[in-house]
Formats: sequence, structure tokens, C-alpha cells
Amino acid sequence: MKRKIDILGSKYTVEFKSVKEDDFLERCDGYFDKTSKKIVVGKKTDDCELDCFEQYQKKVLRHEIVHAFMYESGLADNWEHKRMGQEETVVDWFAIQLPKITKVCQELGCM
Ligand SMILES: [Zn+2]
Repeated sequence: MKRKIDILGSKYTVEFKSVKEDDFLERCDGYFDKTSKKIVVGKKTDDCELDCFEQYQKKVLRHEIVHAFMYESGLADNWEHKRMGQEETVVDWFAIQLPKITKVCQELGCM
């Protein structure tokens, strides 16, 4: 199922696909495409050994959302890592901490 989201004014689609449906997922668990404005997250594979795949899949989705937000806000090719354009550690940190930061802000009413 294709979902549509708005990231800083740009329309993106979000899809969950299997490796058979999208062979780019052989190299990653998810990706965002800045040219076609899409985020793709991999479905569980037969050889997946994770106990809580859905939890991991949500983290992958957040990771790609952070990439898209960074890209749309101008943090793309001008980042320190020329190859990827964005620093993966920072993206991952934000993707992992985002739900916790959101919870604290909601508790304090400062969203
Ligand atoms: Zn990444």
C-alpha cells in the first residue's frame, strides 16, 4: 500500500516492498529517493532472524524519513560525507531518539 506524506512541503510516497518487488532492497533495508520523492522500506525476508521485525522496520522507516527531512531542508550533498551526502550516524541517532524526544515534548506541551 502506497502512503502519501508531506515533508517540508514536498510530497513523498512511502511503500513497503519485498526484495522481489524492488531489487535495490538487496543492498539495504530501506531507502529514500530524492529524485522521485519516495521512501521504500523492505518487508520481512524469509531468512530474517530478528525477533521483533516490525520494531526494526519502524526504525528503518524513521531513518529514511530523517534522510528526507535533511534533504528537503538543504542538508544533502553539502554534508561531510560526499559519497552518501548525509552522515549515517547522525541520521540513525535522530531516527532512534525521535520517538523519545517527541514523548518528552508532548509531556511538556512544547511540540
Ligand atoms: Zn541512511
